[in-house]
Amino acid sequence: MTAKLIDGTALSKTLRADVASRAAALAARGRQPGLAVVLVGDNPASEVYVRNKVKACEDNGLYSSYDRYPSTLSEADLLARIDELNRDPKINGILVQLPLPAHIDSHKVIEAIAPDKDVDGFHVANAGALMTGKPLFRPCTPYGIMKMFDAYGIALKGANAVVIGRSNIVGKPMAMLLLDAGATVTICHSKTRDLAAHTREADVVVVATGMRSILTADMVKPGAAVIDVGMNRDDAGKLCGDVDFAGVKEVAGYLTPVPGGVGPMTITMLLVNTIEAAERAARDA
Ligand code: NDP
Repeated sequence: MTAKLIDGTALSKTLRADVASRAAALAARGRQPGLAVVLVGDNPASEVYVRNKVKACEDNGLYSSYDRYPSTLSEADLLARIDELNRDPKINGILVQLPLPAHIDSHKVIEAIAPDKDVDGFHVANAGALMTGKPLFRPCTPYGIMKMFDAYGIALKGANAVVIGRSNIVGKPMAMLLLDAGATVTICHSKTRDLAAHTREADVVVVATGMRSILTADMVKPGAAVIDVGMNRDDAGKLCGDVDFAGVKEVAGYLTPVPGGVGPMTITMLLVNTIEAAERAARDA
């Protein structure tokens, strides 16, 4: 079997067209949706992510503000800026790019963002809402992956799903969304005793570890849907995922490439969450 590739770039295009038309409708009522992006420090990877997010806003009719601070910014000053953004009616979504410098408590910063502007969905109020089946914002990466399952008609009800990775950003919310969709979910992590024993039983595998080639062809059930979240560099410096793409492609039923899979969907869902926030704010006004 050769897997059908899930094209995150093409699906993103369709979703972004919808974002652009909803943004235009809001703007026509004087309520252009706005995203505030905050970057502290000079981590080169973060700079690229932030630039892509700001550009995606500009390309799709969203207003964006971009605050760039040196790594010496104090926690108190960052919290004060978040407080301003919380009260700014032009801003519907606030994104503080992680990781933050060590002297700033990320947890405190995330909790300072108003839950109804927390477009990353990381605030405990939003994590709790997701856990109890009433999400306000779904974290962007897992949300984008759910859109992929939907677009490609991949059945989740009754499916065995394995999520490798248990971060608050990807693994845990992914598992919650799969559970909500009716899958039987197993979460694996670095302490899992026999990873392959779990993945071989899975109809759906989502890999989010940051470990190159952690999932190889012998670990995959023929026909399974495999979603590769990982973003790594291979020995030649080329972007690659967590899945042994060449091998797994011959066994899986569906597979996401890296690049061109989950990555573009993550940014797209940030736009979708910002539009949803703006539409809610317009309704409540
Ligand atoms: P974290 O480092 O926070 O979490 C990694 C997880 O992988 C941990 O739960 C860890 O287990 C688990 N893990 C590590 N080694 C193994 C192993 N040998 N076997 C099984 N599990 C293992 O990463 P994130 O969740 O933030 O991100 C994961 C990857 O996804 C990264 O490569 C990141 O760059 C990428 N990413 C991509 C995005 C995109 O848009 N494409 C968005 C977000 C992330 P334990 O908890 O036990 O330590």
